[in-house]
Amino acid sequence: MTENDSLLAENILNAIASVAGPGPISLHDPYFKGKELDYLRNCIDSTFVSSVGQFVDRFESELAAYTGAKYAIAVASGTAALHAALLIAGVKGGDEVLVPSFTFIATANAVSYCGATSHFIDSEAITLGVDVAKLRCYLLRETEQFSGQCLNRKTKKIIRAIVPMHTFGHASDIDGLLRIAHDFNIILVEDAAESLGSFYNGKHLGTFGLLGALSFNGNKIITTGGGGAILTDNKNLALKAKHITNTARIAHLWDISHDLIGFNYRMPNLNAAIGCAQLEQIKSKIVLKKKIYGLYKVAFENVKGVNLYHQREFCNANYWLQTLLLSDENVSKKDSILALLNSAGYMSRPAWTLLSTLIPYADSPKMDLSGAELLFKKVINIPSNWCLNA
Ligand SMILES: *Cc1c(COP(=O)(O)O)cnc(C)c1O
Repeated sequence: MTENDSLLAENILNAIASVAGPGPISLHDPYFKGKELDYLRNCIDSTFVSSVGQFVDRFESELAAYTGAKYAIAVASGTAALHAALLIAGVKGGDEVLVPSFTFIATANAVSYCGATSHFIDSEAITLGVDVAKLRCYLLRETEQFSGQCLNRKTKKIIRAIVPMHTFGHASDIDGLLRIAHDFNIILVEDAAESLGSFYNGKHLGTFGLLGALSFNGNKIITTGGGGAILTDNKNLALKAKHITNTARIAHLWDISHDLIGFNYRMPNLNAAIGCAQLEQIKSKIVLKKKIYGLYKVAFENVKGVNLYHQREFCNANYWLQTLLLSDENVSKKDSILALLNSAGYMSRPAWTLLSTLIPYADSPKMDLSGAELLFKKVINIPSNWCLNA
């Protein structure tokens, strides 16, 4: 570590310590301050612990009410939600799907589960999401319209869908993405796994695309242990989502019969019970997250060489994970900063290794990814845990 490296690292450490007090402190923990145990006990007493039960229905209707989606379908994980959403959107074997290289691997895995190929696209540092202007130029150059579908000139495959991801609860450029979807005949499915409680111009993320996916994994802003949900305004698609995530079983009083190869992707009632209790706390959780952001904002005001990421004017974010962006001249210091913070007990981590560089996706089609490459070098997530605010 050079002297200059260690100065920036020390300044970041001091700023975090001034907010967090003495460590160790984790990045983000689950937080159960509501009726979780009451609802769980109710499940067990009723014996409805599995895939049927009042909490599943209740969780779905409360999610729909909170997000403003007409329909919410609870499933076993965010990954399952993405997979089912893509299938229902019509993604087929042999298709290509546009996926940011800068996202969690589940986004691309869901595409692979459909037998389709992820076609990796670039991201930028203003929204932490897809670089829409660059994507438009790329699609104009690389694709043509063929009977109402978007054809990749090189691979001759249909680009069926685009799955933008709203990073750390911050909105991508939705209007730009909707225009691309419209102009190029590509279906928009949102990976809103990190975005429960985040709004774009007043409308909840995950409700702009044909379908959206949420996650309630233990690391997200609310958790069901493991779980996810599909959001849509389309009744027909909602029915299909419920059907294929429920082994495609045909409703009947006693017959057990199925009309498709479906999936066992249902959310158990036990998990939905926790979800109902957690969802009751979403507003207070976001208040806490915003307070944490406010404390860091003051602490980092005079730290040069790094910026605390803040929501853009069109976004009301959940501030799930606090994010530092190193300035361009400091990106080479990321690893030494991470080493210092973690050894001092302030759990911090980089963003995801770009998917296009991972072994399973090394041969996937991709555009120039220089924006995502730079973004990966800049991002450090710092402790965002609830107790920061105690
Ligand atoms: C968490 C997450 C998922 C997947 O959620 P699981 O519930 O863990 O399957 C998908 N995409 C992104 C961006 C995520 O952060």
